[in-house]
Amino acid sequence: MPNPLFVADDELASLIFEYCRGRLNLDPVPLDLTGDKRRLEEALAGLITPEGNDPARVLDIFAEKLAPAVISCDSPRFLAFIPAAPSKAALLFDMVVSASSLQGTSWLEAAGAVAAENQALGVIAAQAGMPAGAGGCFVSGGSAGNLSALVVAREVGYRRFAPDRPARLRVAVSTQAHSSITKALTVIGVEPFAVPTAGDRFTGADLEAALRSDPEEGDVVAVVATAGTTNAGIIDDLAGIAAVAERKNLWFHVDAAYGGAALFAPSVRDRFAGIEHADSLVVDPHKWLFAPFDCASLIYRNPHLARTVHAQDAGYLDVIHTDAPEEWNPSDYAYHLTRRARGLPLWFSLAVHGTDAYRDAVESGLRVARQAADLIRRTRGLTLLRQPDLSIVLFRRDGWAPADYDGWSKRLLAEQIGFVTPTKWQGDTVARFAFLHPETTIGMVAEILATM
Ligand SMILES: *Cc1c(COP(=O)(O)O)cnc(C)c1O
Repeated sequence: MPNPLFVADDELASLIFEYCRGRLNLDPVPLDLTGDKRRLEEALAGLITPEGNDPARVLDIFAEKLAPAVISCDSPRFLAFIPAAPSKAALLFDMVVSASSLQGTSWLEAAGAVAAENQALGVIAAQAGMPAGAGGCFVSGGSAGNLSALVVAREVGYRRFAPDRPARLRVAVSTQAHSSITKALTVIGVEPFAVPTAGDRFTGADLEAALRSDPEEGDVVAVVATAGTTNAGIIDDLAGIAAVAERKNLWFHVDAAYGGAALFAPSVRDRFAGIEHADSLVVDPHKWLFAPFDCASLIYRNPHLARTVHAQDAGYLDVIHTDAPEEWNPSDYAYHLTRRARGLPLWFSLAVHGTDAYRDAVESGLRVARQAADLIRRTRGLTLLRQPDLSIVLFRRDGWAPADYDGWSKRLLAEQIGFVTPTKWQGDTVARFAFLHPETTIGMVAEILATM
């Protein structure tokens, strides 16, 4: 008797492929709603039993009860947080990665997958203008990328003081840095050196002034700049910060998890000047480079430094660490060991569509953001809070209190007009759009604004 877990079941395959075909062909993708705990529990009650179930029944429960209780982040009307817009080619190839159990832990096990992932990483590194030797790996998200990069920054910082180990090290961050940065610093036991900024944007002058006014600045070993803040889409003064970092011998980490995709966009490329000096760089293709979850690229200027910090040492792993020059173990460049070859859907889509299609798709998100800003500026009762640097638009409905924004947000979702959530800007509750889906139109934005 063959083991039932491994029987090639054509009927089950058709069931799943048909579901996937249907999901990929949804036009438009419905926004759907958030879930009701009691109803979800009812749908799932008693489903996992010793004997199992007919797969059609389980898939039905998923399709009818569970999937509609997940807001579709790939809907062009999803404008909250940071949406997603995976290309069809990338989504389809993600199925190939799954069906082939493609892992990408080491060169020994997965050279073919790793070579292709590195090609995709190379495209991003080249857009950033990083040197030819730059490299790294794909990790699960910007948070994992920031953590892994800061671990390297910390170790390189410690080496400065060797053989002593100072009681504390600090990393310079601005208040607009992503929450994952402060979280990572907590995890690795490094204190933030909070840099006050004179304006909205963290500049080299801010960093210089903060260091100058601190008598213990010698324990600051790194600085984090953000290329596209998540809340407002602001690109820090990367060139200015890089220059101070160079002078003070600080590790320069650039968190471009959201904004880095706009390196592909000629209309804003000059705002990233200085990014080429990054010691480590994070760009999330699962945000604005049309890749499915979960895919973040982590690139180091000197990957060998990262390897000395992250390579795991165990007798059974000795075989993956040889002196072969072509060897490239993604597990050596971040805090992880086993990993899915999660860069391959991006690689496939880039290879199929070409970088011009990526340039155009990113530009369309930037364009709708500019159109939305213009429309808000022209609409009585609305105030645009800043001209967008990238594709995030902050604005206010004059006279609204926080509860008004909350009620409005819930209504928009209930009526399936849009998913838009408020944020805080300079202490006030305001409305926020995050654009990136190439199929979001200014017409949809007008429809949303008309409900305010
Ligand atoms: C989204 C984001 C992160 C976190 O990335 P995840 O993929 O959600 O872990 C970090 N930094 C910035 C600037 C981001 O926009």
